[in-house]
Amino acid sequence: MTTPSPGKPRADALIDGERLITRLRTLARIGARADGGVNRQALTPEDAAARKLVVGWAQEAGLAAETDPIGNLYLRHAPAGAENAEPIVSGSHLDSQPAGGWLDGAYGVIAALEAVQSLKENRAALSRPVEAVAWTNEEGSRFIPGVMGSSFYVDRLSISEIEDKLDPDGVRLGDALAELLAATPDLPVREQPRPIAGLVEAHIEQGPILEAERLTIGVVEGVQGMRWMEITVRGRTDHAGTTPLRQRRDAMLAATSMVQALADALDDPDDIIRFTVGRFIARPGAPNTVADEVTFTIDLRHPDEHVLERSTETIGRVVAEKAGDCDFDIALQEALKPVRFDERIVETVASATSDLGLPARRMVSGAGHDAAVLAQRYPCGMAFVPCHKGISHHPSENADEADLIAGAAVLAETLRRLASD
Ligand SMILES: [Zn+2]
Repeated sequence: MTTPSPGKPRADALIDGERLITRLRTLARIGARADGGVNRQALTPEDAAARKLVVGWAQEAGLAAETDPIGNLYLRHAPAGAENAEPIVSGSHLDSQPAGGWLDGAYGVIAALEAVQSLKENRAALSRPVEAVAWTNEEGSRFIPGVMGSSFYVDRLSISEIEDKLDPDGVRLGDALAELLAATPDLPVREQPRPIAGLVEAHIEQGPILEAERLTIGVVEGVQGMRWMEITVRGRTDHAGTTPLRQRRDAMLAATSMVQALADALDDPDDIIRFTVGRFIARPGAPNTVADEVTFTIDLRHPDEHVLERSTETIGRVVAEKAGDCDFDIALQEALKPVRFDERIVETVASATSDLGLPARRMVSGAGHDAAVLAQRYPCGMAFVPCHKGISHHPSENADEADLIAGAAVLAETLRRLASD
């Protein structure tokens, strides 16, 4: 790390690093797993307990806490005279994967709380309110879809269209949401989303780049686009012992040759295209029967929509070439366009980082985030901190405390600059 030059802000003067780490470790006890990870899925009693804990910290700090019909949490500092201006917002999510880590989402919420509280305590001269937010159900591991709270905020989702969704145990989303809201009965409910002047989400990188390059901050310029497809290959069941190979329509052989040919065709010398076959199911699934139907999924990601389009065409061509005597179809299940974050927000994250003397690089997020959804309507940006070996969505997820503290300081300084325009 470079030494900050005199006259420039220092990380430990902007926020209380010890308080940040203590809160993160306290929060990690809610839904703690025996293996060191966290299981705090959306709209569970653990999720409700995490919200209560965070609301308590915010209220102790003199911040105004509110919720909304989908359970998003708003922790607000509005300096006198600036109450009616559109706020600068920062936040992430408190829910985790079933076998998740202690930092994914939680870091962005607690860092935002630390930044907002510190701006209040340091009496920063602000012309806008600053708000820390926890968005409901980012992960989507219990109730589909994920990024639920942020989608609600940008009007892409109404509660009536999701309230009858069931979790794997048959619990209705509407009932789980009502229970979550009932756990904090004193919180005022913000009925309508309010316009946001700017938003910055802090998050662990969930990838290996910052750690490998020994950098403290990733200035995130956008989020790569994604397409999910399901390929179905249909042949004919036959007896494995009696049917000559030349007479078969073997869906398994066709599908496996497709997967290998697709990996070759989509190989990217720059290693930017992400091509993954994560599920491969053969039917009828008997050892002594030729498979008549194989389905497999494709998860395809890239920061450039044109590359996604070209790669999709390649997939269509390769699947047709390798189908042989089998029939096939390709179903596009989900398509998310790449997101480019707001240039002014990105620049502010970059300048706050360099003025703090922290080594950084610009990068594109490999994973989806609430900020990518909110960017559909509001100016958004993100700041990443390194995590160990790039591991996330896993109990062993971890990061250096010094990096977590530095990231929260960058967040505080970024919010201060954006809220004093
Ligand atoms: Zn996350």
